[in-house]
Amino acid sequence: MRMWMIEPELLCRQHLLGEHFEIHKAAGNLRHSGKWTKSLTRKGFLEPQNFLSRHNKLVIEMERRGFMHNSPLNVSDIDLPDGNVNTEMSVRDLRKRCGECLKR
Ligand SMILES: [Zn+2]
Ligand SMILES: [Zn+2]
Repeated sequence: MRMWMIEPELLCRQHLLGEHFEIHKAAGNLRHSGKWTKSLTRKGFLEPQNFLSRHNKLVIEMERRGFMHNSPLNVSDIDLPDGNVNTEMSVRDLRKRCGECLKR
């Protein structure tokens, strides 16, 4: 469960759709206890302050690849904690765990 924060074009289908889904899930969690999202934010896996802009970038790439999107993200009424994802680490982790990402 994390945001990769690398150029969406570089993500394979699975990781593109996965990151999109996880943003919705993490935003939904903030409407409840928020504990799970906050703990992942502290670990450097999420940037809630960038949920909306990141979500919209992922959606542009999803639509470019022909996926339908009908789940608008509304975060205007939630308190978004600040996080910081290390993109160099993201690239390294994706290379390790996914043969499809970053090939593009
Ligand atoms: Zn969405
Ligand atoms: Zn991948």
